[in-house]
Amino acid sequence: MRSLLPKGLEVRSGPGCPVCVTSVAEIQAAIDLALSKNVVLTTYGDMFRVPGARGTSLMEAKARGADVRIVYSIADSISIAKKLKREVVHFAIGFETTAPTTAIELMRGVPENFSLIVSHRLIPPAMEHLLKSGDIAIGGFICPGHVSTIIGSEPYVPIAKRYGKPMVIGGFEPLDVLASLVMLLEQIRDGRSDVEVEYTRSVKREGNVKAKRVMTEVFKPCDGDWRGIGVIPMSKLELKKEFEHYDALKRFDIEVTIEEGMPKGCRCADVLKGLIYPWECPLYSKACTPINPVGPCAVSVEGACYIAMKHGIKSTEDVLHLNV
Ligand code: SF4
Repeated sequence: MRSLLPKGLEVRSGPGCPVCVTSVAEIQAAIDLALSKNVVLTTYGDMFRVPGARGTSLMEAKARGADVRIVYSIADSISIAKKLKREVVHFAIGFETTAPTTAIELMRGVPENFSLIVSHRLIPPAMEHLLKSGDIAIGGFICPGHVSTIIGSEPYVPIAKRYGKPMVIGGFEPLDVLASLVMLLEQIRDGRSDVEVEYTRSVKREGNVKAKRVMTEVFKPCDGDWRGIGVIPMSKLELKKEFEHYDALKRFDIEVTIEEGMPKGCRCADVLKGLIYPWECPLYSKACTPINPVGPCAVSVEGACYIAMKHGIKSTEDVLHLNV
């Protein structure tokens, strides 16, 4: 689609892949827990191969004897806990889209041998962080459709006004993306910084009220470390006191240490901040591939590097301005 865009209009991906932004320290904590505490560790498929702090992954932990299982949802993990006498820990990652499913299961009640590593993150604080850093000249945002289905359009309004940036909540079909871009360009032309919804078939101004309510009953925001980006204030969710009992890191006394940095040469941080295109990383398609990933962006199906490699993109010329 980038090839359809006129010169001067660039679309860059941001930190919108939950696997990519989960901190090295949290992944390492999950690996340590799986290897040392004889638990069943469940996680989503994309997280399985993402390298932790020492270059290891949950997949390698499994190869070394840990009981790591891939699940499609937290409900699958709870079913495993109900069948087993052993402790089951679910590595709960994802944005506002996934957090309500975690919350509702805890509210319904889970077995005592079940606990969680909570790594849910919040999108609006990350957007504000990008704008505040001033690292990249962003003309406007296409806001995420699924997250916005939950949170609605309201949380973006203060950010749009504070930084004078237009925002459009877009859907996922090609026409949604193009229509969102047109709406953004019209705002820029007219000097507006509004929050508009293109994805009206899913997103309401107030979002999903029930989902938001369960989230606030179970979680509270806290500062969160985003892989390659650093600590963003109030950008992560942690369990409220009433649910702390289900915090696996506390239950098993596992420490989440400070971020240990990215692998040598990896430019995932710049990809996640939209500073470079994936193919501008020197490791792209050479030392780093989806089969042998160096950074998380080449592992997850939502990762910018994975997507670019999947489509065989080698250079900016491959994607920009082909038709103009
Ligand atoms: Fe990170 Fe690999 Fe992408 Fe480079 S090519 S930014 S190392 S995922």
